[in-house]
Amino acid sequence: MTLSPEQRNRRAHAAYQLHGGLCAYCLLRPTDGRDHVVPAALGGGEGQLNRQPACRLCDWAKGSMTVAEWIAATYRLLATGEGPAEIRMWVEETCPELLLQPVS
Ligand SMILES: [Zn+2]
Repeated sequence: MTLSPEQRNRRAHAAYQLHGGLCAYCLLRPTDGRDHVVPAALGGGEGQLNRQPACRLCDWAKGSMTVAEWIAATYRLLATGEGPAEIRMWVEETCPELLLQPVS
């Protein structure tokens, strides 16, 4: 199915409204930015189904990972304390209560 430019715009607007104008990843920060769910470098297209509203921090922290890779890396960080610095910074800014507390 090929969408007209008007249909693509309506779909993009609907996706934006779906998240209340907030980033689809953190649901905290308003954004008009878009992230590729599957990165272009991995074959993700420019279609609206592959674009999500994303704030700058989430877009930066996700980088060139797929959403599944990003989630897995975040869980690994939360479980082990080890992982990319970008994800640690994202957790510290977005949901610091999830970081493991040191055992005394
Ligand atoms: Zn975000």
